[in-house]
Amino acid sequence: MKITIDGNEIEANFGETILDAANRSGLEIPTLCYSEAFGGQGVCRMCMVEVKEGDRKRLVASCTYPITSEIEVQTSTPELLEIRSNIITLLYRRAPNSDYMKKLHQEYECTGVEPVDPEEKCIMCRLCIKACEKVGAYAISTIMRGTEKRVATPFDEESPVCIGCNACADICPTGAISVKKEGGRQKIWHKSFEMFRCEVCGDYFSTLPVKEHVKEQLELTVSGDNLCPNCRRNKLARDVANVSK
Ligand code: SF4
Repeated sequence: MKITIDGNEIEANFGETILDAANRSGLEIPTLCYSEAFGGQGVCRMCMVEVKEGDRKRLVASCTYPITSEIEVQTSTPELLEIRSNIITLLYRRAPNSDYMKKLHQEYECTGVEPVDPEEKCIMCRLCIKACEKVGAYAISTIMRGTEKRVATPFDEESPVCIGCNACADICPTGAISVKKEGGRQKIWHKSFEMFRCEVCGDYFSTLPVKEHVKEQLELTVSGDNLCPNCRRNKLARDVANVSK
């Protein structure tokens, strides 16, 4: 079915979200808590848009709103820009040390606010927790309450179930999770891991527990499992080229 976003007519699939239809068509709607891996969560509300259906207009979170009719969508009305600016102001107050939040704060010309904790980078979107659950590790969760609430390992200590996969840090929109790599070791969530090298390029690229976890979860022996993602891609391309010769 056809919908319009800011006057651009695009083809949408019945039931897909406005955000997915916009992304597929190369139209940008700002988000913070959206990830391709988990879809819309409707948490940060940055992706609010105005939907006109017949004579009726309303504001919805584009990451969770399913398209079921030929709607008209506006993404940047003065009202929406004000809502977004207010959201950024609040989130920036919570996470003023995040470079990404600083950038948004400037871009939307938000007003100055007194930060709760000048060192904080986390906006509590929970994407990291979801990523950890998806991996099957369940190493992090939220602890404390109210303004003290934050993501951590149990008792803020080294977790026996963390495998150092860095899925949490990779998915975090604000760069709030620290990963330190040095001398063949990686430190994340108070835990230090020995890393192993790619057998082709020699770069350290993953931890031993990740390798074991992947084998266990997939119940298979991965061919070329000592290769970093780049070298594995190159190997695959060479294999495909050889087969098609
Ligand atoms: S650490 Fe990052 S991903 Fe996790 S809740 Fe905070 S902002 Fe979201």
